[in-house]
Amino acid sequence: MVIVMKSKATQDQINNVEKLLKDLGLGVHISVGSERTIIGVIGDKRKLANTPLEIMPGVERLVPIVEPFKLVGKTFKPESSIINIKGIEVGGRSLAIIAGPCAVESEEQIMETAIFLKSQGVQFLRGGAYKPRTSPYSFQGLGEEGLKLLAQVRKETGLLIVSEVVSHDSLEKAMEYVDVVQIGARNMQNFDLLQRVGRSKMPVILKRGLSSNIEEWLNAAEYIMSEGNYNIILCERGIRTFETATRNTMDINAIPVVKELSHLPIIADPSHGTGNWKYVNATARAFIAAGADGLIIEVHPDPEHAASDGPQSLKPEVFDELMQVLKPIAQAIGRKL
Ligand code: PEP
Ligand code: MN
Repeated sequence: MVIVMKSKATQDQINNVEKLLKDLGLGVHISVGSERTIIGVIGDKRKLANTPLEIMPGVERLVPIVEPFKLVGKTFKPESSIINIKGIEVGGRSLAIIAGPCAVESEEQIMETAIFLKSQGVQFLRGGAYKPRTSPYSFQGLGEEGLKLLAQVRKETGLLIVSEVVSHDSLEKAMEYVDVVQIGARNMQNFDLLQRVGRSKMPVILKRGLSSNIEEWLNAAEYIMSEGNYNIILCERGIRTFETATRNTMDINAIPVVKELSHLPIIADPSHGTGNWKYVNATARAFIAAGADGLIIEVHPDPEHAASDGPQSLKPEVFDELMQVLKPIAQAIGRKL
């Protein structure tokens, strides 16, 4: 349930409601909007059975939350969240661009890619050190060695680092070296990992599961947020459908739907969404036009020889084309690139 305070409610009235809820053993989340303050109540609502909240001074009305998720929902927090990662904002007017190879392969590969991306104005470098591959015989990533290379690149270029975690162990390691952790599609319902990332308070990109609907995805985000981590960025990366012409089917509907249901920023991953570099730029343009807060794009200096996801990785010159074409689109919809 949320308590909507009157627009003229005083700070004392807000404090009184907060105190009463806390005295009843309930959690409280206060959201100060430009018009009015909204107080989210967390916990068993039966504790409120004998409490006439609606007649407390300053209270306008009580609104039940009908969605199964709470903290990540718009009812709870109507204004959009902006995630600040070391001074770079995701979910504000500026679009966030995250790019880099699927996997960190070597010092030369990651450094060359990073220097190129930096020159393109990209803020975040992606690179997997722990790769959840479909086959156990495929390249599994360099592990901590890969994280160390990423940290070295961050030191030399100033790019912020995004890397996937797949377990408690890899999360503990990644926390030493990266700025944003990624929970991949395959782990979207790894509830233990979600809760651990929640407790870590690390900014996190939560990808949509291969076969998950939007409600399941937002509930996965709720697992993270209910542990106290508000720094969540959702990422639409395509879902499984009957279509076989592309690796996955990108769900563009997810952008306006998530924007309506949740205050969290949402970005798109057309690399995994299409599985084919030829389709990446077209879908990237569409997702930005639809209101995505940014993109995550696989870029490799030599995709033919990439250890993973080469077919969907952009060559630097194709990424350059994308950045050029995105600028007028961003401007047309009031965003900045
Ligand atoms: C990746 O980003 O390289 C990755 C494995 O993504 P996903 O979890 O979306 O498949
Ligand atoms: Mn990949």
